[in-house]
Order: sequence, then structure tokens, then C-alpha cells
Amino acid sequence: MDTVQNCTKCGLHKLLPDGCKPVAGIGPTLSKIMIVGEAPGYDETLLEEPFVGQCGQLLDKLLKAAGIVRSTCYVTNTVKCRPTDDGKKNRPPSKVEIATCKPWLIEEIGLVKPVVILTLGKVPTYTLLKSQLKASFSLGAIAGQIFNVDYSSAKIVPCFHPSTLMQSSKNEIQRTIDFFKMIKVMIS
Ligand code: SF4
Repeated sequence: MDTVQNCTKCGLHKLLPDGCKPVAGIGPTLSKIMIVGEAPGYDETLLEEPFVGQCGQLLDKLLKAAGIVRSTCYVTNTVKCRPTDDGKKNRPPSKVEIATCKPWLIEEIGLVKPVVILTLGKVPTYTLLKSQLKASFSLGAIAGQIFNVDYSSAKIVPCFHPSTLMQSSKNEIQRTIDFFKMIKVMIS
């Protein structure tokens, strides 16, 4: 069967450590909130689960502060294999890798049927809102805005990735929590 965990459609699968598979999304199949990050890192690759490292811990805290239970959300990434050149350092996924992996994300959106898709960072935001954004868009300028798309009834809300928020001010973190609170209202 053609599943993401058996995917070999781009070269990233060749860089996975022995025994590791592409990291599939996790969460209830019908979730009102879908969270989309960039790509798995080292920890996520070994544990085969999105957002389990330091970024995942911060995401958990932000969701909790907004009154959202993470286990009720479907969590995934734009690209399902860790982008790296040497197995040590992460790098951003290339345009080709994103385009090759995108059908898996679109399939997930179709299965999960979320009410809101939270895109964390520029990569998932541009991937899902490409027809509405310039490649040079500023995430800060559109964070927290609500976008409609023609391929899903879900509303898309861009926010900063936790890795960016780790370097950000308390005000930026509070702003993100406020966006998450808005999303909680949108699904209730
Ligand atoms: Fe397949 Fe995506 Fe992994 Fe490339 S990154 S091998 S398209 S699952």
C-alpha cells in the first residue's frame, strides 16, 4: 500500500538513519485543529513523531496556555523526512522536496477535515498559501490573520514556529498565545 511511511519519492528518505521511516502526522483522524510545522528534526526522526523535541515542548506550553489540549489536535509537518546534508545539521527543505512531499499534506488535510490549520513558520505557510503570498512575504505581517483557500473549507492561520519563538520576546510569545486563544474560539 502507498503510505507516507513507505515513501521514497525524494532523496530525503535516503538520509534517514537505519530503521527510521518518514514521520507521519499524529492525532485524531477528525481533528478540528491541524498543526503543520516545517519538517522533522533529529528527535522527531528517531521517535517517528512530529514536535517531540524542545520545539514540541514549547508548542505544548503555548497550547496549554491557550486552553487547547494537544492530544485533540492533528500534528504534522510539511515535509515528512528530516532535511539534512550530513545527518548532523538540519537544513530547510528545498523547493523540490516541499513540492514532492506536498501531496501527502494535502491528503492529510482531506482526511482530517480540520476547521483551522495552524501553520507554524514560513515553510508551511507558503506551502499552503502560495497562491496568495509572494515568496518574500513577512510572516510577522500576516501572523494571526485568517485565510480561506479553495482546496479545503479549513481556515488557515499562520503563526511563528516554536524555534523562532525560543529566540523571541515575551510579547511575541504572548501574541502567539492570543492567536491560539482565537483559534480555540473559532472551533467552539
Ligand atoms: Fe517521501 Fe516526503 Fe520523505 Fe520525500 S520527504 S521521501 S516525498 S515522505
